[in-house]
Amino acid sequence: MTTVAAYAAPAAKAPLERTTIERREVGEHDVLIDIKFAGICHSDIHQVREGWGEAIFPMVPGHEIAGVVSEVGPGVTKYAVGDRVGVGCMVDSCRECDNCRAGREQYCTGGMVGTYNALDKNGEPTYGGYAQTIVVDENYVVRIPDGLALDVAAPLLCAGITTYSPLKRWGAGPGKKVAILGMGGLGHMGVKIAHALGAEVTVLSQSLRKKDDGLKLGADHYHATADQKTFEDLRGTFDLIVSTVSAPLDLGAYLSLLKTEGTLANVGAPEEPVSLNLFSVIGGGKTLAGSMIGGIAETQEMLDFCATHGIGAEIELIGAAEINEAYERVLNSDVRYRFVIDTATI
Ligand code: NAP
Ligand code: ZN
Repeated sequence: MTTVAAYAAPAAKAPLERTTIERREVGEHDVLIDIKFAGICHSDIHQVREGWGEAIFPMVPGHEIAGVVSEVGPGVTKYAVGDRVGVGCMVDSCRECDNCRAGREQYCTGGMVGTYNALDKNGEPTYGGYAQTIVVDENYVVRIPDGLALDVAAPLLCAGITTYSPLKRWGAGPGKKVAILGMGGLGHMGVKIAHALGAEVTVLSQSLRKKDDGLKLGADHYHATADQKTFEDLRGTFDLIVSTVSAPLDLGAYLSLLKTEGTLANVGAPEEPVSLNLFSVIGGGKTLAGSMIGGIAETQEMLDFCATHGIGAEIELIGAAEINEAYERVLNSDVRYRFVIDTATI
């Protein structure tokens, strides 16, 4: 075991504070990563607050990890010391079920191992990226292409893949009208990626506060959902809506914005259930779908796509002492557009 500095929530809803954790020794197929940057995802906040149910404490959040390999196990073939790498939301899975074999490790039926707030195969709690180092099996590590700076690449490991995967799966591209609902961490990546895929992109945000940014990031249109007229004007418009909203919302109202047989792909993970009048999907033969992050190979594909298109996240780099303040700003939809922790400050 090696002791490393980290930031942890000691208990549910408690502020995060500096502490130390133990990382396992580098095993046969492990890489030791010197973490340089860790993004703050809204999922970190849901979990620290136990908004999704009982959680494991102390909790070191962080599943948007970018760093450099500093040691490799004897059986490692994919990475070498000095490689620039990333780790996202999972650090292991069963590797044998149909989903693992199909590259959908995130839906592992044996249960994938989350990067934090989970138990690994030995029953030990996992600790995430708000730390100086992490030890991960090479099969759950991805390569960060040279063209991408590590700080703006970190958020791609969750916000990037979580929007890329549904955009690809439901055919965002030339001739398609795509709406991104919510322009926070995930949403702003959705705008950039959908634009790069060639779709006509609309942002649906609570207000017009971030309109200039949205248009700069690649949106063609920008509307405020607080304005009822938006729902009248845009009725029946979209082939695909990707919802990134972190709070319960009126799904029926958004389904009405889809074309016949359009799809609303939800990636937001609010803490409370939502209710829906099912006539909203029956009429127009619409699909209400969900999507969770992406597989390891798809995450690599997304990183390569982002490097090719010059896409990184828009970030606000913070020191570890500012994590609690950053959480409050995320909760107030005051993030532009991802907080990234400089882990040298931990
Ligand atoms: P975020 O940066 O806080 O962005 C969420 C955005 O949702 C806000 O910026 C805001 O956009 C909008 N919003 C927030 N509260 C709202 C409300 N009451 N009504 C309407 N809109 C509201 O969060 P994030 O990191 O992008 O994560 C978004 C959600 O996705 C979280 O629930 C997170 O847990 C979940 N998530 C899911 C996956 C997955 O695999 N499915 C992966 C990562 C995260 P505007 O200001 O533009 O209105
Ligand atoms: Zn996340």
